[in-house]
Amino acid sequence: MGKPTGFKEFARQVAKERAPLERLQDWNEFSQKIDLPVLRDQGARCMDCGIPFCHTGDLIGGMAAGCPLHNLIPEWNDLVYHDDWREALDRLHKTNNFPEFTGRVCPAPCEGSCTLGIHEPPVAIKTIEKNIIDRGFAEGWIEAKPPAERTGKKVAIIGSGPAGLAAAAQLNSAGHSCTVYERSDRVGGLLMYGIPNMKLDKKKIVERRIKLLEAEGVQFVTSTEIGKDIDAKELRDKFDAIVVATGSTVPNDFFGKTPGRQLKGIHFAMEFLHANTKSLLDSSHADGNYISAEGKNVVVIGGGDTGNDCLGTSLRQGCKSLVNFEVVPQSPEARAGNNPWPQWPRIHRVDYGHAEGGAVFGEAYQADPQKTLKDDPREYAIQTTEFVSDGQGNLKSIKTVQLDWSKPANGAPFSPIPGTEKEWPADLCFLALGFRGPEQTIIEQLSLETDKRTNINAEYGKYTTNVPGVFAAGDCRRGQSLIVWAINEGRECARECDRFLMGNTQLP
Ligand SMILES: Cc1cc2nc3c(=O)[nH]c(=O)nc-3n(C[C@H](O)[C@H](O)[C@H](O)COP(=O)(O)OP(=O)(O)OC[C@H]3O[C@@H](n4cnc5c(N)ncnc54)[C@H](O)[C@@H]3O)c2cc1C
Ligand code: SF4
Repeated sequence: MGKPTGFKEFARQVAKERAPLERLQDWNEFSQKIDLPVLRDQGARCMDCGIPFCHTGDLIGGMAAGCPLHNLIPEWNDLVYHDDWREALDRLHKTNNFPEFTGRVCPAPCEGSCTLGIHEPPVAIKTIEKNIIDRGFAEGWIEAKPPAERTGKKVAIIGSGPAGLAAAAQLNSAGHSCTVYERSDRVGGLLMYGIPNMKLDKKKIVERRIKLLEAEGVQFVTSTEIGKDIDAKELRDKFDAIVVATGSTVPNDFFGKTPGRQLKGIHFAMEFLHANTKSLLDSSHADGNYISAEGKNVVVIGGGDTGNDCLGTSLRQGCKSLVNFEVVPQSPEARAGNNPWPQWPRIHRVDYGHAEGGAVFGEAYQADPQKTLKDDPREYAIQTTEFVSDGQGNLKSIKTVQLDWSKPANGAPFSPIPGTEKEWPADLCFLALGFRGPEQTIIEQLSLETDKRTNINAEYGKYTTNVPGVFAAGDCRRGQSLIVWAINEGRECARECDRFLMGNTQLP
């Protein structure tokens, strides 16, 4: 423990962000640099408590409590306080292959379980993690480390998201020859084409890591869809093992019976986000190959990371108006009695897109007497009842009704409140309603068993499917989740795959 009185002396501080109205002018990351002495003080706030829940990674109440990667958080906090950044970097890499991703986009369940967080703001763990890895790259401490020897075993990894990348990194380090197949034109899964550039820079951050993996010997084959361009059974013949890491890509659509669902202008969120980032990277948007929200009234249905990313993207494109519907009521400002520490705090949060929406349209929201929140694009406890046509097959507006969650009715946990019907102008509507599960083509070609939710049936910790030599990791196995869980599963799956190939394993 660096400084026994650190938590009493120093207040929590995280990196500042560029002001919303400034950052909306570009697609660059908005988190700013933080000074080294500040980080040292932040490291000193760690109490090195007897039982550090921050790195447990247990599921409590269905949510992660603590870091799923079991990052050695108290250790690197102490090392940062003592200015031993090089050692802090080595400790960080012991458990996390890609801290530059988690340090930017992880919701930080570690901080929700920090012991200091019981009575004070928690240690700024995620900020410290990001700065350890960023400094490691800046100092040139991070170099490709190809394995000293090759085993002669070949592994095919299907899908290049964080689960596939982590599996490849680990299996390659054990000396196996890894080929990662990706159907998109760029590697990274949702790191590349889901999370927008302003949250995680593609060229500077994601591609930097991909180049390192290539230099270490991992082979990437892009624009190749397994199941279509290459039959999955063919991979079985050519490789000693297969890791399926294809993500959870089938979007939920709860509006099948809602009038007007077929209208032009209604898109799944991923159609919008994928095309926007691709066009940005290909041509700085000059090719026009994206869905443009410029000058349009935009409604985003569904909260979460995906909905929030649709807000930030619509605003950067210059939308005319912006509203975000949430079917559930607003979360409380502080933990409710049934959500105690060290559980993930289910509290009201203002993410970057909400803050940006407020900065641009706050006055318009305040002028609307029906608006429940005054400076935020979110409308809570609201249900879409109809998508309205302009008479030519295009979306013109959306009809809604407010919901009373204290009165269940007709088998639903809520009932509509009469008299709260409203019509919202809408040229574009993005559906960010989560994901149902993985696509089934590969699953069928390899005769893999699935669970009730259509995910690949492979026990957590084992990752072995019903077909010997075929493993599954990440969202295609656990359902839609987080980057940190995908890395955790990719690493552990590599360990089991190595055991299968060699009879034993040294991988963690
Ligand atoms: C818009 C959005 C924003 C998010 N933001 C965050 C966030 O801020 N923080 C966070 O922690 N989590 C976030 N998540 C969740 C997180 O991105 C996922 O949990 C994580 O990426 C899952 O990793 P994965 O490797 O299992 O799958 P994915 O990242 O989905 O990667 C799967 C890859 O497999 C490829 N693939 C699929 N089928 C085939 C095939 N047949 N042949 C070849 N390739 C194939 C896909 O093209 C894709 O590249 C977000 C999710 C979305 C949708
Ligand atoms: S990966 Fe996420 S949970 Fe783990 S230490 Fe980093 S921010 Fe916390």
